[in-house]
Amino acid sequence: MTDNHLNPQLSVVIPVFNEAGNLAAFCEAISPVCDALRLDWELVFVDDGSGDESWQEICTLANQWARLSGIRFTRNFGKEAAIYAGLMYSRGDSIVVMDADLQHPPQLIKEMWELQNETGADIVSGVKQRRQAESLSRGVGARIFYWLFKRSTGIDLALSTDFKMISSRVRELYLSIPERYRFFRGMTRWFGFPEQTVCFDPPTRKQAQFSRWNNRGLFRYALGSLIAYSSLPIRLLGWLGAGTFLFGFILGVQTLFNKFNGQADEGFTTVILTVVIIGGFLMMGLSIVGGYMMEIFRQVQQRPNFIVHEELQTNRSSPASFNEGI
Ligand code: UDP
Ligand code: MG
Repeated sequence: MTDNHLNPQLSVVIPVFNEAGNLAAFCEAISPVCDALRLDWELVFVDDGSGDESWQEICTLANQWARLSGIRFTRNFGKEAAIYAGLMYSRGDSIVVMDADLQHPPQLIKEMWELQNETGADIVSGVKQRRQAESLSRGVGARIFYWLFKRSTGIDLALSTDFKMISSRVRELYLSIPERYRFFRGMTRWFGFPEQTVCFDPPTRKQAQFSRWNNRGLFRYALGSLIAYSSLPIRLLGWLGAGTFLFGFILGVQTLFNKFNGQADEGFTTVILTVVIIGGFLMMGLSIVGGYMMEIFRQVQQRPNFIVHEELQTNRSSPASFNEGI
């Protein structure tokens, strides 16, 4: 093992959030796979503000391994920010992004590497053969999200994962795009580069593989991705407005007809219903427009996507600057 991994051929980027207990096993699993490729490789762990011993574990592992580097955020900025930072700090010609909990099988890296070399594909994606066992609400929520995403953007992400091997030009492109909202899976597909896929069966979750996402976080992630990638919610609003207008028009004609026939007495129920329905539509519309406005506001604010607290063996002359993190 060389001590100088300044220009590795392969980087493995791992977002980490409360993965204490998983990291040594992860290193043990990935090490023989990458060693067998007979190339220089590095691991880049990004601790996304874990509240457990994850960072201490990364430090211990780094003491034993020159090929391991680590970045620690000041707080939890989310998986997308962690992937972004990991890509920024990685130096390989090819970069693999994968989860820390071994739900993305490390053996697949060999297949990805061979496929990338044989076909020259810029992106090799790990695709699940089926969804993992999950709660009913999560399963239904995910299916609705993927259906909406496909309908509105034409991009089918069902069964796709963040387990990907990308070329350095995809990484440079991803880092150079000034868009604040990050959605690794969506953006890499949106680029349109030649893409190959490798299929895998996600292992059933063990105790240590519980999802680190809470329902609220996942909902916001889904909503943010829809807003960032599609104008569907706004267009829906237009159709809703048109429908309401048609409904109002028919009601208006009927009301006038009744009035001229001298039967315009019972209108209370209709009035109440109309007020409530239109009020609801208006509120919903405002909140959708507000969602887009919020994203524009965040983009204009130009706050960084993450803030680095500590670095370990990153070989960078200076920490990632504020602007780099945007
Ligand atoms: N993760 C992260 N920040 C977060 C949530 C998750 O960096 O806020 C990491 C986590 O440590 C793991 C990967 O993202 O390496 C995927 O998370 P998880 O395994 O919980 O997702 P799921 O199994 O539900 O897809
Ligand atoms: Mg997981």
